[in-house]
Amino acid sequence: MKIQQISLINFRNYQNLNLRIDGLVNVFYGNNAQGKTNILESIFYSAFGMSHRTGNEDDLVKMSCRDMAAEVVFNNLYGDHKLRIKRQNICEKMRKEILLDNNVIRSKEHYGTLNVVMFSPEDLQIVKGEPALRRRFLDMEIAQTNRYYYGLLVKYNRVLQQRNKLLKNARENGLDHEQLEVWNNEIAGVAAEIISLRLNVLGKINQIAGEIYKEITNQREELVVNYELKTNSSAIICSPENSLESWREWYLERLKERQMLDVLRGSTGIGPHRDDLFITVNENNLRSFGSQGQQRSGALALKLAEMEYVKGEAGEYPVLLLDDVMSELDSERRRQILNFIDGRVQTFITVNDKNLIPELACNRYFCVSNGSICEG
Ligand code: ATP
Ligand code: MG
Repeated sequence: MKIQQISLINFRNYQNLNLRIDGLVNVFYGNNAQGKTNILESIFYSAFGMSHRTGNEDDLVKMSCRDMAAEVVFNNLYGDHKLRIKRQNICEKMRKEILLDNNVIRSKEHYGTLNVVMFSPEDLQIVKGEPALRRRFLDMEIAQTNRYYYGLLVKYNRVLQQRNKLLKNARENGLDHEQLEVWNNEIAGVAAEIISLRLNVLGKINQIAGEIYKEITNQREELVVNYELKTNSSAIICSPENSLESWREWYLERLKERQMLDVLRGSTGIGPHRDDLFITVNENNLRSFGSQGQQRSGALALKLAEMEYVKGEAGEYPVLLLDDVMSELDSERRRQILNFIDGRVQTFITVNDKNLIPELACNRYFCVSNGSICEG
């Protein structure tokens, strides 16, 4: 996939931007706080309808402005397309519209239209941070090329909320056993599908990330990513051997087992929303034993594996966004990454110092200064 144009109205510090893109590797350079990350964020936002760094969409609207729009024109295997997201304030009510080729679409139709993989300083948290971030990494990765999975996640969250509501209600009004059985069945069915897909995809990611990590470390270190399944007594590493039906039964039994505990807590303590990824380097837990450099290389290997995975599923490379990555790597690793992307995948890179990125086969430089961009 390749982006050909980016247009922004009142997005972060861009008032009105129209930028033509015809390079494969696009380098955005400039001083701090000029709008380099903002431009990458606008691409991510156009692709997913959300930001990679804030959960509050209001932050994206230029200060003291009411309306905002972000648009990218891109091509994929099937032709040229235009994605536009409009956020308008109408009678003090926010209205958001996503348009694909001028037709309004829903979020679930939007997701995966433009495949993007972003690597930013925040992504170190995939290794270091809370389990929710690792689940999000895996979920986004699968959902990008699998609409059905996106639907499963939406459904799972809905039935989980319903079950939790019933549990909370039980404290005052007694437990409605019949209704609980309905939600247990629903949850077990969706959870079985989610975990089967997760394990399947993680098997592929583990293999690709392991190979990339070996390359980054000159064959010296081995990265392994496992799925950590939460049971009622502990967390176990699990493999994808179970059938869908046996997963369904497994969840059903576990949910019944912990029924009283869940009522006491007012929430559901088991399921895909509680699982984690267990990442090791040379058999040591990367989260607690890895050096800063190992953790960074691990996170990068996972992201580059995501890129290869999307390529395998979608039939073409996604667009790669690298925010502030180059300055944190030594020159040898920088060279390896540039060799890897050069001529292969459309990439948007931000750096403070233009000289960190040497001339490649087909790169373009853009100087970013106070919300405006000049090529050269
Ligand atoms: P660095 O090199 O430090 O990473 P950067 O060029 O990536 O810098 P960005 O994060 O893209 O910087 O942009 C930061 C600038 O955008 C800041 O000046 C900030 O005040 C401004 N900014 C952020 N959000 C908004 C907004 N909603 N309205 C106006 N300006 C904003
Ligand atoms: Mg930045």
